[in-house]
Amino acid sequence: MINVPELFGSSVFNDDVMKERLPKPIYKALKKTIHDGETLDDSVANAVAHAMKEWAIEKGCTHFTHWFQPLTGITAEKHDSFITPDGDDKVLMTFSGKELIKGEPDASSFPNGGIRATFEARGYTAWDPTSPAFARDGTLYIPTAFASYTGEVLDKKTPLLRSMERISKEAVRVLHLFGKTDVNRVVTTVGPEQEYFLIDKDIYDARPDLIYTGRTLFGAKAPKGQELDDHYFGSIKTRVSEFMKELDLELWKYGIYAKTKHNEVAPSQHEIAPIFTTTNVAVDHNELMMEILKKTAEKFNLVCLLHEKPFAGVNGSGKHNNWSISTNTGENLLKPGKNPAENLQFLVFLAAIVKAVDEYQDLLRISVASAGNDHRLGANEAPPAILSVFLGDDLDAVVHSIEEGESYESEGMEDMDLGVEVLPSLRMDTTDRNRTSPFAFTGNRFEFRMLGSAANIASANIIINTIVAEELKEFADRLENVKDVKAAAKRLVARTFKQHDRIIFNGDNYSDEWVKEAERRGLLNLKSVPMALKHFTAEKNVKLFTENEVFTKEELEARYEVELENYAKLINIEALTMIDMAKKDIIPSVTEYVRELTDTALAKQALSADIPVSLETKLVTDLSRKLVCFSDKVTELENDLIKAGELSDDMQAYADFFCDVVFADMQALRAIGDDMETQTASEYWPYPSYGEMLFGV
Ligand code: ADP
Ligand code: MG
Repeated sequence: MINVPELFGSSVFNDDVMKERLPKPIYKALKKTIHDGETLDDSVANAVAHAMKEWAIEKGCTHFTHWFQPLTGITAEKHDSFITPDGDDKVLMTFSGKELIKGEPDASSFPNGGIRATFEARGYTAWDPTSPAFARDGTLYIPTAFASYTGEVLDKKTPLLRSMERISKEAVRVLHLFGKTDVNRVVTTVGPEQEYFLIDKDIYDARPDLIYTGRTLFGAKAPKGQELDDHYFGSIKTRVSEFMKELDLELWKYGIYAKTKHNEVAPSQHEIAPIFTTTNVAVDHNELMMEILKKTAEKFNLVCLLHEKPFAGVNGSGKHNNWSISTNTGENLLKPGKNPAENLQFLVFLAAIVKAVDEYQDLLRISVASAGNDHRLGANEAPPAILSVFLGDDLDAVVHSIEEGESYESEGMEDMDLGVEVLPSLRMDTTDRNRTSPFAFTGNRFEFRMLGSAANIASANIIINTIVAEELKEFADRLENVKDVKAAAKRLVARTFKQHDRIIFNGDNYSDEWVKEAERRGLLNLKSVPMALKHFTAEKNVKLFTENEVFTKEELEARYEVELENYAKLINIEALTMIDMAKKDIIPSVTEYVRELTDTALAKQALSADIPVSLETKLVTDLSRKLVCFSDKVTELENDLIKAGELSDDMQAYADFFCDVVFADMQALRAIGDDMETQTASEYWPYPSYGEMLFGV
């Protein structure tokens, strides 16, 4: 039997361990740092480092690493052992406060967007004591922030922590206006739902596109897809179920609250959701979870695909970022209560969020922008690239009544009668969930649904925290000096809802009508990464980030460059992979099949002119024509890659070209390739089919 409470967090240097192992004054000093952001002095750091090392050694660790989140999109680590020479041929195991607090990895190979002079390659990592260290595979992992020698941040954690500080400060100001003077800190919480695919490792190994790019670049549809909806919430196959069990155990060891798991819509697609926690920890946990998903899959001869669109024709994978704000006194600020119309404090926060989403649609879109996610947004399986807020009927009616200055009696929560005595009566939200909204209010939180499955959720949360902080600041500035705060707040809420009404949409976001309606409303529809990124350094955004001290102008410009470059590089790898597959496998294989058909036809004819060879003739003619066409498209793609290279001095033009020209070439090439696959005998086709990939586990 597995003792889950004992297993839970057993690989984490968590609060219990600290309490047990640190001298009391040291523990207290550390807690002060964690809660109030005070700097640690050397003696405290040394004592903590010592306790950590002793604990880590007991957990089988020989090394430690500063674990950070550079702009590559994945986590980075450099392992150092604990050994120090001790006399002749002997070693000691040591770990100092200095080593815990600060690392100096070579930063030259991490993206920096031209921020750092090339002669200065040094970078710094700095311990983030608010996210606990953990022991994994013989190494002590220390979550850290990453910055350049000159102090510009080069990672996702630092701006996230800055944004959390910002929203805390402004939310506290607002709460004090409502008399909540016992509140001195507000934290944002996040619960990310993670989707992924599992496919057989042997099948994966036979697909260069999956190996190099994480998605299939060729592949004709299988006879069956997701049309029967028989996978969603379906019973879980044995091998997958074994994997999920092991996955939970692993995640629990690291203190990750893995809670819900089920099959998703597409064949071979699944989801896992942890219980929410503080944003900063939720981000680290999600990064670790993605790593553990991949590693655990290996044990079952499976591969976990985290790409947003591994397969055409079936749903891709996303990540729902459930976000809320709560106080150090335990109040969730997004809880509307029984009668939201009377809950002015809630309405102020709601209005700030609605205004934030409207004014910074571009930044929210940018925060989820990736080459992989471009395949999903607007493709009838995920929200379109248009931001809007869903409030639900009840809250929407509240908002409308406020706009019109009328009173409204909320329906509140109702009991749901299932008509069967033995079933308990369920509490029902006053409105059903809207599954198509990109930014939906779901009772006590907002669910941001545009994120791609591979994303680091820090990006989205940096933006949500910062834009909401900005609006709360504006509100607090306005309300702090008025006599009648309540009356002024009421007016402010009404005015805000009126001004930002256009961003609220409760209908079907997947419909074509919405795209037209949104255009009429003047909402942005930024369909691709380069299109979205153009807005990154707009004046209002520079102002937002610099005034809130989340990014300097230089850091923002650097990020813009890095994102564009990452995008272009990714598409370039995809294009090169396609060319490789086309030339080395597909053209030779189809040619071989054509030859076989030709030989057969010739042999038949030699035997007797009466034997019909019309089938072979038709296929040979058809496929030969397509081969010419296919090879022409390969050449076109190659030529366009050369043209792209000539634009590389101007990152925006470079990325635009990959988006508009190279990507279009790839689609055209794929169409012919997939068409040929449907006409080629399986034994000649060089790769496992969609059917084998999607139904092969
Ligand atoms: P659904 O699929 O209906 O959206 P799930 O139960 O799969 O619901 O996921 C809901 C997620 O929202 C969970 O991760 C849950 O912990 C999270 N959540 C609940 N309350 C909050 C909150 N106050 N702040 C952040 N996340 C929350
Ligand atoms: Mg959800």
